[in-house]
Order: sequence, then structure tokens, then C-alpha cells
Amino acid sequence: MMKTTAIRSRPVLVPLEFPIRTASGTVTASPLVLIDLLTDTGITGHAYIFGYTPLTLQPLVALLDNLASMVIGQPVAPQALEERLRKSFRLLGYTGLLRMALAGIEMAAWDAFAKQQQMPLVRLIGGEPRPIQAYDSHSMDGESLAVERAVRSAKAGFRGVKTKIGYASFAEELAVVRAIRCAVGPQFEIMVDYNQALSVPEAKARGRALSEEGITWIEEPTLQHDYDGHAEITRALTTPVQMGENWFGPEEMMLSVKAGASDLAMVDVMKIGGVCGWMKASAVAEQHGLPLSSHLFQEISAHLLAASPTAHRLEHMDIAGSVLLRGVTIKDGFAVASEEPGTGIAWREDAVEQFLVA
Ligand SMILES: [Mg+2]
Repeated sequence: MMKTTAIRSRPVLVPLEFPIRTASGTVTASPLVLIDLLTDTGITGHAYIFGYTPLTLQPLVALLDNLASMVIGQPVAPQALEERLRKSFRLLGYTGLLRMALAGIEMAAWDAFAKQQQMPLVRLIGGEPRPIQAYDSHSMDGESLAVERAVRSAKAGFRGVKTKIGYASFAEELAVVRAIRCAVGPQFEIMVDYNQALSVPEAKARGRALSEEGITWIEEPTLQHDYDGHAEITRALTTPVQMGENWFGPEEMMLSVKAGASDLAMVDVMKIGGVCGWMKASAVAEQHGLPLSSHLFQEISAHLLAASPTAHRLEHMDIAGSVLLRGVTIKDGFAVASEEPGTGIAWREDAVEQFLVA
């Protein structure tokens, strides 16, 4: 049985081609912690986690360093490892930075285990590699940049884009949506994301006013933890409501689903609790007939969506590309999981060195 010998965590601040501008704040460079799980076989598992702000990087690294003592010397059995780690924090509760760090270790363990079994992750968890329709995920870019980026995405083969809205006036966001539509044509998917910016009444009003624009989904119209508010918006609108990127664990997803908060489900593999958390979320989505999309983490999500019965769309937003040897493969607008053993995540060491946070 392969055993863990060390956990190495490195904080990096990775440049982005475009800042991630949202109605609730901007991410100008991508704050990541790169995790290596070293084993006694010479196999190393890789995973990264996304800290949203550079302020979380040192605390996450310190947490990962401390958690290493619970993992070193233990067999690399990802499901058993995840359960043991999670249960040992029952008194504290496993959310926030702790859950993010645990998910990072768990995903690195799955990568090492899949490499040992010489299988891509999708096959290891019993799935079959299959193309998943992707959309290109953009920011609150203003009209001219929004159009420029949408046209570029269409030329690159994508069949949809997401633009972040929640502008000061509804007239502004309607102008952005209509300008994109005009540039990409009627068949192209357009998603909009409010990033929690609206009150429930405002969301109902703006959502109704968008109902004739042929929008694929309206994402996080109000505060992410307000499941009842989301349910009220979902009932009021004909356009599907999307949410879920902020569910910490399948347990929060269950509460949201019980409230009828959304028509669609979007899971963030880090916040949901790694591969194990994703598979539980995927089962919940199947039982409730919820189309399941991914949030960030496109490389590992291409594997997980391919093994999810209600797989819907993969979010393409490149937060780690500059430090990866190979990014996710997008062919004719569809994401294809890597066929090499593991998740396909490996570091470009020269870039890691360059973007390392001291
Ligand atoms: Mg979002």
C-alpha cells in the first residue's frame, strides 16, 4: 500500500489575462496554493486550491503544513483519508479555509492514487471520458470588451459565454447582453452572473425584464446563503436560476435543494469537499433531476463531470494555466478529460518559481 511521506504546499499569485471583475469584488491575480502529496513509491499527487484573495495564502499554507502530520505515514486511500480527516474536525466544524485545505489534500491523494492505478481519474471512479460542453466565463467587462471577448470565444469554438452583470443600472446590463447577442447570434448560449449583488425584489424585477433575451441561466442573483430568497426568485422567473459555487459540502447543497433554491446546480470541487464531496453532490443532483455544472477547477472538473449522470456545462476560466504544464483540452467547444494517469495536473516549475509568494 502506497503511503504518504510528505505534503508540500506553495503559495503563488498567478497573472490573469483579464481581471475577474464581479459585482461583489475583483480578483486581479489568481491566488493559488499548489499542493504536492509525496509518497514512498516516488509517485507525487498534485492539486491546487484557489484562495480568492492573497490574504488567505499564508494561513492556508500554515494549515496544510499542520494537517500534514495527520497524513504522513498513512496509506493513500483517498475516500478513507477524506472521511478520517473530516471526522477529526467534527467539533470545530469543517467549512471555510479548513475545508478548502482538506479538499486540496484529498484531490492530491486522488491524483497520486490514480497514477498508481495507471488510470485517468474519470476511469478510476468508474466513468468514461466523454466530451462535456464548455462555456467561456468572462467578467463584468463593460459593453465593448464583453463583445470583443464573446467574439473571440465564438471563434475559438465555444458555444456559449458567461458575462458578469449587476451594473448600477439595469439599462447598462441589458445593453451588454444585447450587444453580445447581436455579435454572436441567436444559437449561442449567454449566461449571466450577478455574484450575489441584488436584493430579492430587485432580482425578480431584473430577471423578469431579462426573460425575453434568451439567457441560458441567471446565476447567484442574491446572497448565496439565502436559499429561501433564491427559491422565491426561481419561482418568479422563467429563465433558469443557477447557483451552488458557494456550497461548502454536500450538506449545504442538500439544504439549498430542499429549499428549491435553483433550477440548476453548480459545484465547486474545492468548496464541495474534493472528489468525494463532488460524487455525493452528483448523486444529490441526479436524485433531484438537477443539471450539474462545474465552477472553476476545469482540469479536474472535466473528469468529474464526465462521471456525473446529470452533467451540464463546464466553466472555462483559466485561473491556473500559467503554472500548469498542460491546460484542459477544449475541442469544438467541448472539454475532454486528460487520458494520462491521474488528473493531468502538473506544474511548470519555472513559472511556479516566478510567481511564488515569498
Ligand atoms: Mg458565479
